[in-house]
Amino acid sequence: MTLPINDLKRHNAPLDPELRSAIGRVLERGYYVLGPENKAFEQEFAAYLGTPDAVGVGNGTDALELALRAAGVGPGREVVTVANAGMYASTAIRATGATPVYVDVRADTLLVDPDLLAAAITPATGAIVVTHLYGRMADVERLVPVAHQRGIPVIEDCAQAHGARRQGRAAGSWGDLAAFSFYPTKNLGALGDGGLVTGQDPALLARVRHLRQYGWTTQKYECREAGGRNSRLDEIQAAVLRVKLPHLDAWNQRRRAIVSLYREGLKDIGWQLPPAPAEDDVAHLCVVRPRQRDTVRAVLQEHGIGSDVHYPIPDHLQPAYADEGRPALPVTEDAARGILSLPCFPEMTNDEVATVIQACRIASQKECPK
Ligand SMILES: *Cc1c(COP(=O)(O)O)cnc(C)c1O
Repeated sequence: MTLPINDLKRHNAPLDPELRSAIGRVLERGYYVLGPENKAFEQEFAAYLGTPDAVGVGNGTDALELALRAAGVGPGREVVTVANAGMYASTAIRATGATPVYVDVRADTLLVDPDLLAAAITPATGAIVVTHLYGRMADVERLVPVAHQRGIPVIEDCAQAHGARRQGRAAGSWGDLAAFSFYPTKNLGALGDGGLVTGQDPALLARVRHLRQYGWTTQKYECREAGGRNSRLDEIQAAVLRVKLPHLDAWNQRRRAIVSLYREGLKDIGWQLPPAPAEDDVAHLCVVRPRQRDTVRAVLQEHGIGSDVHYPIPDHLQPAYADEGRPALPVTEDAARGILSLPCFPEMTNDEVATVIQACRIASQKECPK
């Protein structure tokens, strides 16, 4: 592959000396889990987002699960969410013992449709998970009030939306709680797994803090909060994230510029393209919709260009849960058959974007007209 869909070695190389010195600092200190790096990163990330506090955890799926548990979700409850976001929220919901209830997405943005979401709320609804998919913020200014009128907590899944802002307010500061992942390919990525929960409610965040470590509250070895887990951000990852956070806005800006170049270069070939990225879109992925996805993928591959599908199997169609009732989610199902993610990472050069555009244009000529 000449141009992979992502290139983490290139991403991290310019920071190599700083990363090594941060890791060395942790090694020498001899404090490896929930120490000063974690504390400092929690504070720095909360300050960046404009939230009162943050809690470092093991990964993004745990962040969702612990947020759900802190919000009181458990067996017998339903959690309303989308089925096109890679099973992460579903995994977390099921881990609490609750049941995911899926609603369809809007065809233009592939984000949750607020009207369908409102209609899916029942007396059993324990929470809503709103996913800011592909880096684009969902319609939080409409969704959050609808949920709150019914007394239902909103958990934002910000695993693809680090640094997205609307009306100056960051993704992760709109709902009751918010989950972040620092998996290496995310807009802010560690050198391994990592996650974090933040939000506006200090009491709920305190609960997450207890739940991430066995349910200990005031002293160790004493469990006062039921439903605890072990899910902690380790010191090496926290130190790495502290090196990378100051670069996040510039990386996001470059991702937006890449999507804009794709939009310009592909505007006349009849594909559905991502919306023009504004402040509320950090272009985590550049997802296009050709006429014949698999034909296009093959042509890109011939040109040495990587691509992927995010995501090929909607949550409600996953084989492991085939015996459960399957709701009809026509937009979600149709999108899964048609979408394609193009290479989009901050280190891509304009020449590389042009190469992908050229290959896409060649591929579009090989598609049958629809
Ligand atoms: C990556 C991701 C997660 C889960 O993060 P992990 O750290 O891999 O557990 C959750 N939600 C979305 C939308 C993601 O992209």
